[in-house]
Amino acid sequence: MKILVLNAGSSSLKYQLIDMDTQAVLAKGLCERIGIDGILNHSTEACGKLKFEIDMPDHAVAIKAVTDALLSKEHGVISSMGEIGAVGHRVVHGGEYFNSSVIINEDVKKKIEECSALAPLHNPANLTGIMACEKAMPGVPMVAVFDTAFHQTMPSEAFLYPIPYEYYENYKIRKYGFHGTSHYFVSKRAAEIIGKPLEEIKMITLHLGNGSSITAIKNGKSIDTSMGFTPLAGVMMGTRSGLIDPAIIPYIAEKENMTVDEVNDILNKKSGALGISGVSSDFRDIEEAAKGGNKRAQLALDMFEYSVKRYIGLYATVMGGLDAIVFTAGIGENNISLRENLLTDMEFMGITVDSEKNNVQGKEAEITGAGSRVRSFVIPTNEELTIALDTQKLLG
Ligand code: ADP
Repeated sequence: MKILVLNAGSSSLKYQLIDMDTQAVLAKGLCERIGIDGILNHSTEACGKLKFEIDMPDHAVAIKAVTDALLSKEHGVISSMGEIGAVGHRVVHGGEYFNSSVIINEDVKKKIEECSALAPLHNPANLTGIMACEKAMPGVPMVAVFDTAFHQTMPSEAFLYPIPYEYYENYKIRKYGFHGTSHYFVSKRAAEIIGKPLEEIKMITLHLGNGSSITAIKNGKSIDTSMGFTPLAGVMMGTRSGLIDPAIIPYIAEKENMTVDEVNDILNKKSGALGISGVSSDFRDIEEAAKGGNKRAQLALDMFEYSVKRYIGLYATVMGGLDAIVFTAGIGENNISLRENLLTDMEFMGITVDSEKNNVQGKEAEITGAGSRVRSFVIPTNEELTIALDTQKLLG
């Protein structure tokens, strides 16, 4: 069976067509600037990377562009739409409705829409992608895979905020957590490498990318995670502040004569590593600037490292021990010095790192130091494959 995995954003649509027999990616790509003009980036092994300018007024047209590319005689990989057995959709927010992936029906769509209030930038786009796909591929079964589902196992003491309880009851204000598909994928893979059931391992997974989150996984379940009600919480990120004193928000609003929404925008888009360094949100640019002597760039790197390291201590404590640490996503997979620094001076927790083994980028590797009780790994995340596997499992 071939499964199409779709990740719809507000003006973008990422896709992968995966052959489930071999788990090979037959084609992948990205529609950009939907609703503006439209660019399709499409790649296959045979054709390499291709770029087309295609007018894409909405997601339905973007999906048509994707299926046309997949069917194309020149750069396609299938000869008829019948070859696509199912579609797996990434959906950011499943609220408290979904603790696992589900086959999409009218009720599921209604619930995704209800959760839009909790993820106004993402869920409406995800839903648009689903509906456009239903139109383009009538009858093809579709599955929704939620970023929040894996974290639904958190106990109430971890997911509730100490604010009036009615806000949870009335408005569903609680910690949800995100990147669940990635945390789940890398934790499962780490357990395979260790050779023990995930249920017997206490693990911290660090998804460090443009958006970053850290999860404590005990008995195979997420018991706490750094992102919260929204993906703004937790560690410092590329442009997001992560954890700050909430009283700062009205204070900035008053000083800068801004609305709360405007401050929220600053915290989401102009803070984090970008806000501190003033250079970029991309850690490669920041590292380069720091090497060139830019002190604020170095400060951004130090602050990021500090904000991540705190979670290692925190989550080892709440789990009552630690067996494994896993690094993933753009920074986790590629930033050698950050990993080294994070795992240095951690002997008291039974953690050391092997600098030579740690000299690795974008590849699966064990980086555990000699005599280290806690094992550490770099595991490239593969959210698309996880979505495809869940889709296949649900459709039997
Ligand atoms: P997103 O959250 O958008 O999916 P990614 O997981 O792609 O983000 O991570 C983006 C971050 O990863 C950027 O800060 C970038 O600097 C960093 N990164 C990506 N590739 C490399 C690399 N080869 N070397 C160092 N850092 C990298």
